[in-house]
Amino acid sequence: MITPRPHVAEIAPYALADLSVPQGVRAIELAQNESPYPPSPRAIQAAAAAASGARLYPDPDWRDLRTAIAARHGLAPHAILCGAGSMELIGALIRSYAGPGDKVLAPQHAYAFFQTATRLAGAAYVTAPETNLTACPDALLAAVTPKTRIVCLANPANPTGTWLAPDRVRQLRRDLPGDVLLLLDEAYAEFAPQDGLFDLIERGDTVITRTFSKAYGLAGMRVGWAAAPAAIADQLRKVLNPNNVNLPAQAAASAAIADHAQMTDTVARIAALRERFADQVRALGLTVPASHANFVLIRFQDAAQAADADRALRAQGIVLRAMGGHGLADCLRATIGTEDDMTAAATALTRWRQGSHKGEGQ
Ligand SMILES: *Cc1c(COP(=O)(O)O)cnc(C)c1O
Repeated sequence: MITPRPHVAEIAPYALADLSVPQGVRAIELAQNESPYPPSPRAIQAAAAAASGARLYPDPDWRDLRTAIAARHGLAPHAILCGAGSMELIGALIRSYAGPGDKVLAPQHAYAFFQTATRLAGAAYVTAPETNLTACPDALLAAVTPKTRIVCLANPANPTGTWLAPDRVRQLRRDLPGDVLLLLDEAYAEFAPQDGLFDLIERGDTVITRTFSKAYGLAGMRVGWAAAPAAIADQLRKVLNPNNVNLPAQAAASAAIADHAQMTDTVARIAALRERFADQVRALGLTVPASHANFVLIRFQDAAQAADADRALRAQGIVLRAMGGHGLADCLRATIGTEDDMTAAATALTRWRQGSHKGEGQ
């Protein structure tokens, strides 16, 4: 018999979103935190032009792309590594710095891929309690042991949407032992009220990851990047596959980052729709933590009520993301879609709410 490595066999298949709706119903997918808007026209054009040169390998050093990223964020190009999505970089980083016998620590309801990547590295995944669905630096610090190699923190966080101000992240970094790597996953940084932790890179013990999948609307192109200290970048570089970011993807991302106004405009539109939708949901008596991302988390009375709402919305074609896998079975996560999508989602939730109240008190 052909047997896999035990730590691989033990891992459950990655929980993909259930996107099913009844036959004949038009689906409105609000389950994967994708942008409802197309990428910059300049990015589309650049990708199309690059495709004609696709007989050649892409630039293994991502020179144009990392130069564009560096210029936008005031970083040195050599501090930047690019990946086929930031997931590739997160996976490579955890594999490079944690293994059997080591622990990787994250907040309670953290991004699920942190756990997958940790287990694929053969390391143990542990979590620290959150406060009001928000990462708690004190709890993380209290959970650090001599075996802790990496602390993973998505800020803003997914699936909660909550955010720690830069000062609190800075303080967490200062209080962590110097031999604990801090992985700051800033996939939603463009949606946050404040930016600017890149100076932490200079400490030598912190890596920041970003993505083109969310604010830039390029999820299908698979481009992410990391800002890393030189010594860590050197190691990570060995672990990444050569030519990892394909030619059209590099061209699209370079063009997208140059079209800054298109991105900030998109983010502003999504944020406005998010606030309107969150208020509508709160008006139904449901809890929605303040979100600093392109989605909101909706908390129901209990898991049964969340499942009931999920079924009722799906019957109308509206697909939200169930959160049982994150220990939040009483929640659904709703990605912010177009204005029409969000009107449909709010209407469907209102209808469900009216229906679920029927019979109460009788
Ligand atoms: C979407 C997301 C990512 C990014 O993924 P890509 O691989 O860059 O598409 C990373 N971290 C978090 C928390 C996310 O939600």
